[in-house]
Parts: sequence; C-alpha cells; structure tokens
Amino acid sequence: MSSPPPQTAPPPYPRILISGAGIAGPALALHLLRLPPPLTSTITITIVERHPSLRNTGQQIDLRGQGIAAMRKLGAGIEDAVRAAGTQNRMVLLCW
Ligand SMILES: Cc1cc2nc3c(=O)[nH]c(=O)nc-3n(C[C@H](O)[C@H](O)[C@H](O)COP(=O)(O)OP(=O)(O)OC[C@H]3O[C@@H](n4cnc5c(N)ncnc54)[C@H](O)[C@@H]3O)c2cc1C
Repeated sequence: MSSPPPQTAPPPYPRILISGAGIAGPALALHLLRLPPPLTSTITITIVERHPSLRNTGQQIDLRGQGIAAMRKLGAGIEDAVRAAGTQNRMVLLCW
C-alpha cells in the first residue's frame, strides 16, 4: 500500500493576486500595503494586467464622492499631487 503524498504546507504569509492595473488595482495594492503591521510586513502582492503596455489614451479623470474619500486614505501627498495635476475648471457649459 502506498503512502499518501506529503502535504504542502501553506506559505506563512498571505499572497494576494490583483487582476487589472487600471486605477483600482494599484490603489487597492497601496491600501493593502498601508495596513498596520504585522499584516504589511508579510504580504506579497502581484498585479497582473492583460494589456501589453501602458495606454496614454482617454480623457479626464473625474474624482468625486467615494473616489475622493479613497484618495485621501492613500495619503496627503497623493491628494496634493492629484490636485496639482488637475485643471481648475469649475463648470462645463454645453451649448446646442
Ligand atoms: C465609455 C466610458 C467612458 C468613461 N469616461 C470616464 C471619464 O471621462 N472620466 C472618468 O473619470 N471615468 C470615466 N469612465 C469610468 C472609468 O473608466 C472607470 O471608472 C475606471 O476606469 C474604473 O477603473 P478600474 O481600475 O476599476 O477598471 P479599468 O480601468 O477597466 O481597469 C481594469 C484593468 O483590468 C485589466 N483586465 C481586465 N481583465 C483582466 C484579466 N483577466 N487579466 C488581467 N488584466 C485584466 C484591463 O485591461 C484593465 O486595464 C468611463 C467609462 C466608460 C466605460
């Protein structure tokens, strides 16, 4: 009678796979890395992206509501950088 195959012990640290490198994937990774120790000292995060290269197409990025709350949780430096890169438009007027 053969013996059962040896059990592989799970790694002693959480490994996290994030699918997608849009705005949500890297933001989630940053949030996870800012969790209090000991969680952050042991986790490994991998982000996979199906697109082969960075894309520089698109339009403005609208941040409002929960988007602003999430940005603020990433740190004051990030909000300052986002505001510095933003436009100062207060109103869009559509005319037909
Ligand atoms: C037509 C349209 C116009 C929009 N215009 C605006 C606008 O002007 N301003 C604005 O702020 N927001 C706009 N939005 C909303 C904005 O695009 C989304 O809110 C935002 O992109 C969501 O970010 P995300 O990271 O969740 O998803 P996404 O930006 O969609 O990123 C998901 C990523 O995951 C990758 N992915 C998907 N499946 C896999 C897989 N199986 N394996 C690996 N990688 C994968 C994709 O390639 C992509 O890079 C628009 C949305 C649409 C549909």
